[in-house]
Amino acid sequence: MSAIPQERRVVTAIPGPKSQELQARRTAAVAGGVGSVLPVFTARAGGGIIEDVDGNRLIDFGSGIAVTSVGASAEAVVRKASAQLQDFTHTCFMVTPYEGYVAVAEALAELTPGDHAKKSALFNSGAEAVENAVKIARAYTKRQAVVVFDHGYHGRTNLTMALTAKNMPYKNGFGPFAPEVYRVPVAYGYRWPTGPENAGAEASAQAIDMINKQVGAENVAAIIIEPVLGEGGFIEPAKGFLPAIAQFAKDNGIVFVADEIQSGFCRTGEWFACDDEGVVPDLITTAKGIAGGLPLAAVTGRAEIMDAPHAGGLGGTYGGNPVACAGALGAIETMKELDLNAKAKKIEQIMKARLTAIQDKYEIVGDIRGRGAMIAIELVKDPATKEPDAEATAALAKACHAEGLLVLTCGTYGNVLRFLPPLVIGEDLLNEGLDILEQAFARI
Ligand SMILES: *Cc1c(COP(=O)(O)O)cnc(C)c1O
Repeated sequence: MSAIPQERRVVTAIPGPKSQELQARRTAAVAGGVGSVLPVFTARAGGGIIEDVDGNRLIDFGSGIAVTSVGASAEAVVRKASAQLQDFTHTCFMVTPYEGYVAVAEALAELTPGDHAKKSALFNSGAEAVENAVKIARAYTKRQAVVVFDHGYHGRTNLTMALTAKNMPYKNGFGPFAPEVYRVPVAYGYRWPTGPENAGAEASAQAIDMINKQVGAENVAAIIIEPVLGEGGFIEPAKGFLPAIAQFAKDNGIVFVADEIQSGFCRTGEWFACDDEGVVPDLITTAKGIAGGLPLAAVTGRAEIMDAPHAGGLGGTYGGNPVACAGALGAIETMKELDLNAKAKKIEQIMKARLTAIQDKYEIVGDIRGRGAMIAIELVKDPATKEPDAEATAALAKACHAEGLLVLTCGTYGNVLRFLPPLVIGEDLLNEGLDILEQAFARI
């Protein structure tokens, strides 16, 4: 592995000529439905830097969508995955098993919330993990209905499209969707009509009332929620909301599933975002940050629930691939050794101070929220009306990209700028990125 200088460098237009050439080839050969935030082609990446084929070095505030928390070429991930590649690439765990899969399941049992007996099953993608959580919950409860929330995101397969709230771009034209999916309100503090202080109690009461009246609690197999909503706009459900929903699930024999695919593995400054309010989910889905960029996902949960499906009922050809498992063990080791929870908390402290200073100057910053290194600002045309400002959001992202800062947008209204730096980013790069953001505000 070659160490990449941790310095921003812009030497061509962004994207540069080599990226533009590759983009032309890509446009001819790659399906148009697969988009890219910024068509600069990557040459190498690590720490807080993405280096492109034209020699530009971008500051990374995206982590490949919250994936490369340990960096995109973390030493332990590269070492362990390379060693595994030499030994064998695949056997299929369902044919002849191997230790790495078991070791990842053991690590998940240790790190996820709760001290009950836990088991795991491994998959390739977040969507696949969520699909399997539903299969497991249905097998355990012998019920069918699944309850999800406004602004929720759970993936792009047929069932997970049904679970996802937002139509464009995730669902439009791709129906019909899976049945027995019901959507209820979430405590979105910033936009809750009676104010954030009432959102937790009121939204949970509304959600529970809807479940009771429209679905029937006795029909519900699972309630699935992101403890910090990701694609929906980095919404932290107002305090009290998650515990109330978890308690309702418990009282009614419903499997409570925390989708921590984006918020998990130190991203919010805790191993899992659920830890913040002491909520212990029955099942937890993980992916993204788990393996330093290698494709791996998991469902982890109470042993008696995880064991409900019949033998052979769960699995898949590649699920828990040995190279991905080795990468996960390297990533988890890195998180512990570098105390990336503490790093995420430090990132939050720096970011929130800088963003608050920007908010004081620019009233289009309606809200600053998130935890750890999962921080966002919501942009509005007028703080009084809170009318979403998707145009300013897109313009700000574009201005940052031109200066060599990779930022992502999200939110149901497309008006949220989200910041997901690798947790290993240096503080100088972090501050330089925030300087660029501040200058972008001045410019637009
Ligand atoms: C990204 C994401 C998914 C889907 O994961 P994929 O690996 O893209 O299938 C599901 N849930 C949440 C909360 C996510 O952020």
